[in-house]
Amino acid sequence: MSFRLCASCASRFMEPGPIAPAGSDTECHICRGALSQLPRLADEAVLRSGGFEWLTFSVASSFGSKTFVREEEVAGFFAPGQFTSLKNRVNSELAEKIAAKTGKKNAQRGADAAFEFDFANGKCSANPSQLYLFGRYNKLSRKHCQSRWHCSSCHGRGCEQCMGSGQNYPSVEDEIGKAVLPLFEASGCVLHASGREDVDVRMLGNGRPFVMEIMSPKRRNVDASEIERRLSGNPHVRASGLRLVAQGMVDAVCNSHFDKEYSALVSADRPFALEDVKLAESLSGKKLLQQTPTRVLARRADLERERRVHSVSAELCEGGRMRLRIFAEAGTYIKEFIHSDSGRTRPSLSEILGCRASCDELDVTGISSYFLETVSY
Ligand SMILES: [Zn+2]
Ligand SMILES: [Zn+2]
Repeated sequence: MSFRLCASCASRFMEPGPIAPAGSDTECHICRGALSQLPRLADEAVLRSGGFEWLTFSVASSFGSKTFVREEEVAGFFAPGQFTSLKNRVNSELAEKIAAKTGKKNAQRGADAAFEFDFANGKCSANPSQLYLFGRYNKLSRKHCQSRWHCSSCHGRGCEQCMGSGQNYPSVEDEIGKAVLPLFEASGCVLHASGREDVDVRMLGNGRPFVMEIMSPKRRNVDASEIERRLSGNPHVRASGLRLVAQGMVDAVCNSHFDKEYSALVSADRPFALEDVKLAESLSGKKLLQQTPTRVLARRADLERERRVHSVSAELCEGGRMRLRIFAEAGTYIKEFIHSDSGRTRPSLSEILGCRASCDELDVTGISSYFLETVSY
């Protein structure tokens, strides 16, 4: 008994073995003629890659589901090392052809262009891989959310309530996107950030670390300072320290938690006096027990956590109000630390002052995230 194989498939197996030449490529026991499409598909893919910038490329190929069963039937007669698998051979032949035609380099990880070959259907595609842009953003608005947040009544289609925008609020993601998309000629972008502030909280100081994932960018050689320049005219959102990074930076940024500095303007059901300043500052260094805030209970599990307020400094302001500067451990709920959330945060400013304190304005003024500068991806 012998298997009839096309010349390409036969050359993958070391002789001797139960192999005979097929009368025509389509009679090949393993690939049924699929490999005869390889030169045509390689040419076609190179043509498709003409519309975007790339220097390195990856190759992936797929075959009909039974192809590998038939390959096994033949490979079973050979010891490991006596044959090259269909995928390995095809991918390396494709990579060689593409490199020869374009003068560009094959790189399976972090490549600029992704070439995909579907031998079962005789199709191929060439697409730009995502880019990852690291930076820090400032949010100067109390009306922007961080990520696109679809309108709750129309779910993004656009309706009267959202004035056609499809969004509950304008977002940091879209503001940065407006600068990024045209420069990279990209189809879309997704913001990954290290935590988030509430819509009504500004993000000042050194800014919040983020990675913007840029989809299908036709341009890769973009001067990052041009993005910062374009955003410098935006009244709501700015960005700084922008640089292209590898995909691994997304996890590094999203999984990191940083201590933060805040500035809070606080009022109460009575005007504050000098004794209140001293009492507020006595909260420096205190450990808080915080039960999940009532306002997020619908989305988060109800549990108690311990967080440390490293320091509090206070000063009296106009109108009997008080300005607090707070430096707190990552994950501290600051508004609840002020108003106590009906006693769910202890101690709190309300509790220690014996009044109903509330946070009128909150800003994040600094994020202790310097370690990210030492991470390179
Ligand atoms: Zn074959
Ligand atoms: Zn709507």
